Amino acid sequence: MPKLLERLIRPEIRALEAYRVPDAAGLIKLDAMENPYTWPQGLRREWLEVLQAVHLNRYPDPQGDELRAALRASMGIPAAMGLLLGNGSDELIQMLALAVARPGCRMLSLDPGFVMYRMIALFAGMEYVGVPLRVEDFSLDLPALPAVMAREQPAIVFIVYPNNPTGNLFDADAVVRIIEAAPGLVVIDEAYAPFTDRSFLPRLGDWPNLLVMRTLSKMGLAGLRLGYLAGPNEILAEIDKTRLPYNINALTQASAAFALRHREVLDGQTQRIRAERSRLFAGLSGLAGVRPYPSETNFILLRAPAGRAGELFESLKRSGVLVKNLDGTQPLLEDCLRVTVGRPEENDAFLAALESAL
Ligand code: PMP
Repeated sequence: MPKLLERLIRPEIRALEAYRVPDAAGLIKLDAMENPYTWPQGLRREWLEVLQAVHLNRYPDPQGDELRAALRASMGIPAAMGLLLGNGSDELIQMLALAVARPGCRMLSLDPGFVMYRMIALFAGMEYVGVPLRVEDFSLDLPALPAVMAREQPAIVFIVYPNNPTGNLFDADAVVRIIEAAPGLVVIDEAYAPFTDRSFLPRLGDWPNLLVMRTLSKMGLAGLRLGYLAGPNEILAEIDKTRLPYNINALTQASAAFALRHREVLDGQTQRIRAERSRLFAGLSGLAGVRPYPSETNFILLRAPAGRAGELFESLKRSGVLVKNLDGTQPLLEDCLRVTVGRPEENDAFLAALESAL
């Protein structure tokens, strides 16, 4: 069997570790940028009624037309732009990679950044080029970037706006420089759009190569798995060909359309998260030896005293709080932990546990 696998499985896949999600049973879960709030009982009942009308014996609407119309209206997607749905934005990244991948073809993004780009590039047989952010503040390295672009000629560039795992928002003019210097597609990944007031969505159409990708995951619907990609129709028509039929299941289509009819509930939760983010940041700033980085997302990256991230992570876990340990994943993230903004009492528990561990 091992011989067979050696012969069959591509070496770069065999060398990979599968993407592992840690067990969070019994822990305060502050590791995955989820919205910590559930829906009020009345809304849950209404939602169940909607689900009762879904016919599970039938395939779902292949294009998700009703849901796409709801998203267009709710998110203010420019009328002239196309819209494509993915089973999470993860799937959209994969569709984009599959559409452009050919031998020697490159995907470019910024490091530290979202880990799935590198993995999906590898799955699709593309080369991944990670351009380091500035050490001091995780900002874009201009003028280096256009020069790298000229050298590497990436077919596709991903820019996370605001960035995961650093939480900062890149300078918009610097992003424009990248869009203009790119020889191929530029995807602005706005997964954290609910937590910032900046967006490239209204600027779609200003450049022929610009696409904007978002997800409902951070808005409070991570369990539904729904991402969307907006951009020029002629580009999306090509990307759409790599989509598996019926990629958005019937329960997700019905549930997401329902949720968007009650957006005020989700927006209210987002506002609470944004307020808590300020409080959490202030709490972290008050801890000696801890450096929190300003965030426009629903998480905060923090640098622990040198050499202590692993020990603090374990200690937090023993106190019942799960965060993400980024130490050792990337040179710029040495001693770093990432904490998702939770409910007030969860954030208090985290701050207390961290203070006592320190
Ligand atoms: N982009 C970024 C920047 C992310 O951080 C994430 C999830 N952590 C995703 C995309 C994927 O989101 P989803 O597949 O849940 O839509």
